[in-house]
Amino acid sequence: MKLLDKSKLIKNHEITALDNLEMFCKNIEKNNGNYNAFLEIDKSSARDRAVDIDSRIKAGEKVGKLAGMVVGIKSNINVEDFHITAASKTLENYLGSYDATVVKRIKEEDGIIIGMTNMDEFAAGSSTETSYFGHTENPAAMGRIPGGSSGGSAVAVASEMCDLSIGSDTGGSIRNPASHCGVMGFKPTYGLVSRQGLLDLAMSFDQIGPFSRDTSGVALMLDVIGGYDETECTSIDNKIPSFVDNVEKSGESLKGTKLGVVKQFFDVSDDKIVAIIEQSIDKMREMGAEVVELSFDYIDLCLPTYYLINYVEFFSATRKYDGRKYGKRIEDVCGEEVLRRIHMGSYISQKEFSGKYYKKALQARSLIKIEVNKLLNGVDAIVGPTVPKLPHKIGTTLEPMDMYSYDVLTVIANLAGIPAASMKAGEVNGIPVGLQIQGKPFEDSKIIEIMAKIDEIH
Ligand code: GLN
Repeated sequence: MKLLDKSKLIKNHEITALDNLEMFCKNIEKNNGNYNAFLEIDKSSARDRAVDIDSRIKAGEKVGKLAGMVVGIKSNINVEDFHITAASKTLENYLGSYDATVVKRIKEEDGIIIGMTNMDEFAAGSSTETSYFGHTENPAAMGRIPGGSSGGSAVAVASEMCDLSIGSDTGGSIRNPASHCGVMGFKPTYGLVSRQGLLDLAMSFDQIGPFSRDTSGVALMLDVIGGYDETECTSIDNKIPSFVDNVEKSGESLKGTKLGVVKQFFDVSDDKIVAIIEQSIDKMREMGAEVVELSFDYIDLCLPTYYLINYVEFFSATRKYDGRKYGKRIEDVCGEEVLRRIHMGSYISQKEFSGKYYKKALQARSLIKIEVNKLLNGVDAIVGPTVPKLPHKIGTTLEPMDMYSYDVLTVIANLAGIPAASMKAGEVNGIPVGLQIQGKPFEDSKIIEIMAKIDEIH
């Protein structure tokens, strides 16, 4: 059943919010021990909220857009009274004292927050293996990584432990695990969703976004969390349409839609992944889409530019974890990857190097942004693979550059600030493969429309 249809049944009192919640609680009891998707769960508060929502529905009162929907939140987003650890020992005892803007909005619309999900430490990774609280399993491909860094949020949705979940995406952390776990993930245009209450990885890239099993869920959540927040300086005051309306209006034809495929995105991807994505593109052609080939000459520039800026911004963001406010000094307790970024960031940030590295990276970023916008100019969206390779087996030792290479196709949207989504295109030996759809800034709704149309074909 589509999420939107379920939400309507709850509002009509044909299903109760409590029954919906209990079903997920059962799945959590059965599976969370194996998957380690949730780090903290609060069933009792969730039950209180479900009972309250049901009684308001019964009394004929108006309830919110997310009434009765069960939601998981990534552990780097503040939720009052939950542990906001960012999966790091640094913050293991830090209890959220307020709700991030997105969480406030979810609660105002009667969403039920069930718990906090696992992730790579401080969101710095692509596998959810670097969590201080242990790795997360991929239910769609047992024994393999679920991707990351929002692996817990992707797995919670993929294994039906909640209706919807929230992640953060700095260089792919929503789209990458969505791709590996076979669910939908959406990184909005930079500035569309408030970052207030998110622990920064790299603030000029970070965006919060949803995971869902179908497009209507993505749209519903974006309607709730999207839109201007005057308390947050990166939030942009731009009128946004109702994404749910877009889903409900969308027919099944792609006539009049022009899609771009970028040759280099395929060149860097495994053949088996390319084959699956080409099948999806053929289907879109059959549905009426016009497909044109594009060329992007700067693909080799993307990873170095992204990681350089990431290191510098992350270093600066971590200076507050000096042991005075949060109890532990980050360098004393963090894992290898976080420490690498702090050291590199500190080195690059030295005054005498700034012209050499950071300023060059900012120039490269401007160039990439201009070129990506040029590519998008003549098309409605760009379609291609989300991740260029299949998820590795848990426990495989990877060099940092091999881990970073998962991100080559996802960092582009963060560098350019454009919206991008991933949805399941097919499988290679049972392992899900994601199709990425990227659009122009603030044309998030166009991506949603395309996703709604092809929802059915996969
Ligand atoms: N894998 C990328 C990184 O490690 C992206 C992480 C993210 O999007 N949070 O920086």
